[in-house]
Amino acid sequence: QKQITLKQRPVGMPKMDDFDFIDTPIGTTSAGEVLIRTAYISVDPYLRGRMQDTKSYIAPFELNKVITSGVIGQVVDSKSESFSKGDVVLGNLGWQEYSVVNEKEIKKIDKNLAPVTANLSIIGMTGLTAYFGLLDIAKPKSGETVVVSGAAGAVGSTVGQIAKIKGTRVIGIAGTDEKCQYLLNELGFDEAINYKKEDVPTALAKACPEGIDIYFDNVGGTISDAVFPLLNKFARIPVCGAISSYNDVEVDMGPRVQTALIKTSALMKGFTLGDYSDRIGEGYSALATWLNEGKLKYEETIVEGFDHVIDAFLDLFKGANLGKQLVKVSDI
Ligand code: NDP
Repeated sequence: QKQITLKQRPVGMPKMDDFDFIDTPIGTTSAGEVLIRTAYISVDPYLRGRMQDTKSYIAPFELNKVITSGVIGQVVDSKSESFSKGDVVLGNLGWQEYSVVNEKEIKKIDKNLAPVTANLSIIGMTGLTAYFGLLDIAKPKSGETVVVSGAAGAVGSTVGQIAKIKGTRVIGIAGTDEKCQYLLNELGFDEAINYKKEDVPTALAKACPEGIDIYFDNVGGTISDAVFPLLNKFARIPVCGAISSYNDVEVDMGPRVQTALIKTSALMKGFTLGDYSDRIGEGYSALATWLNEGKLKYEETIVEGFDHVIDAFLDLFKGANLGKQLVKVSDI
């Protein structure tokens, strides 16, 4: 079977050379373990951070070890009482075609609730991140103005829809006209700004005549710089991601934001989904309910084939994906 390891720590945008594809035997199961055939691999922007040897909320990947992320697979052999052959499971597993794991490392997926891939997107990690970041930190109130960056991606598209459910006016910022049309026509956003074509400060001022109450930040950088002058009194800013800087070799400080926060008594708070580990059940049921009521829509961009995992990961930084970026490795 094939496996992808980290050969060297990338400098700037990762290159194919930073990774190794190696042939390795499929392991055998012992008591309490299962053998899983990988079906879908989640590629996520945060994995870029784990490729660096820096202190973070999660340990760096080790060199010459298999890279891991959210994976859905099917049990093909089981020496566990809790799992049987054919079960579809989710876990943080290796970028490899088969994994032998302890039963404690995986959970069963309910195939009847939603398509299985939704467990890596709308009712999975990215949907939950949107749910807690928006509702717990920003606490949207009806009639407020919400701006979300990275709006057509997995987290951003969910944030905008939950903000609409809460009765707010939503402005999305994304990188293509097609993505902006999707936000307006499919997801019910009120305004959409193509940051690659428009002057963002001008477009934002026009789209937010009453200022900005909530800024859900997925990208950082100059897009966020354009938001700060428009903040309203008591604005809230969940800082979810900063993808525009993940490949920077030198830190770009940008304009200082302190005075904007002081003037408006705004709250700016970083978070990770891990902060909400004891409330995952609540988020999951809320998202699944909205999904089944037709109040949430989602897109997935599915790249086919294990050989394209790295391409799919790098596509995130080029904005090739609409919604959640996944790789399909085998049928379920
Ligand atoms: P997305 O599905 O949003 O994919 C990434 C998107 O980012 C691309 O499609 C692209 O869209 C946009 N992008 C890429 N480069 C830039 C850039 N230089 N400037 C502006 N936009 C850019 O990924 P996710 O939804 O999984 O993640 C979104 C953000 O949330 C990331 O920053 C991620 O790290 C963070 N995150 C944080 C979590 C947490 O617990 N705090 C958990 C999950 C994600 P476009 O075409 O619009 O440029």
